Amino acid sequence: MKLSVSRYNPEVDSKPYMQDYEIEPAPEDHMLLDVILRLKKADNTLTLRKSCREGVCGSDAMNINGRNGLACITRVHGLKEPVVLRPLPGLPIIRDLVVDMTNFFRQYHSISPFLVNDDAPPEKERLQSPAERDSLNGSYECILCGCCSSQCPSYWWNPDKFVGPAGLLQAYRFIMDSRDHATTARLENLKGPYRLFRCRTIMNCAEVCPKGLEPSHAIEKIRLKMLNVTGHGGGLEVHEPGSGLDKNS
Ligand code: SF4
Ligand code: SF4
Repeated sequence: MKLSVSRYNPEVDSKPYMQDYEIEPAPEDHMLLDVILRLKKADNTLTLRKSCREGVCGSDAMNINGRNGLACITRVHGLKEPVVLRPLPGLPIIRDLVVDMTNFFRQYHSISPFLVNDDAPPEKERLQSPAERDSLNGSYECILCGCCSSQCPSYWWNPDKFVGPAGLLQAYRFIMDSRDHATTARLENLKGPYRLFRCRTIMNCAEVCPKGLEPSHAIEKIRLKMLNVTGHGGGLEVHEPGSGLDKNS
């Protein structure tokens, strides 16, 4: 199997370059990650992240033949050769296929990815109806691999200002949660031309998500939620949490 892999060691290289490899996969190498790890046995200078090998941790996200994905759930069979492997685009490269995700997680943390509810804790769990629970489907499954934000042109150009599809999907996840009391503050936090509205609905994010999620639809629903709260777009009124705004208004 032929591979062309982006290499970059900041201690010796002035810029990334492509290195060609040829390796014979073993019969048990069904997934691309199996082949890359075999390659790493032959050249242990090759650097990448990986952990669970089950498409759950998201750490082996990379650009595979021009499209972001997880190496561990990408089948070797049918891959066009040479298989071109690059680090996630738009993120600073630390080394070879490893990128710096500091800004990605800064944007994620900026949407307060936790339940806000000042009520006294119940004896057991905070109950939801089946319909309320169902409204979280399609958002809580995100593994924060970064494939979507890294394939989003709006995020490339404004990574410091635009939250990006991954963070916005999580914003939506808490906006929709019937147990959360901070809907208004969450919407307020996304006001302005950049944090939410920089999305141009190009849909790259939904194209590449390895979990089949659709951040672009979540972004659209947040916009609609803003319209519902204020009755008009772009001029969100400020309401303190608990001011009587119906969460599902
Ligand atoms: S939405 Fe999908 S692509 Fe984006 S971070 Fe979550 S799992 Fe990864
Ligand atoms: S739909 Fe929005 S968030 Fe998704 S890739 Fe396009 S611009 Fe980025």
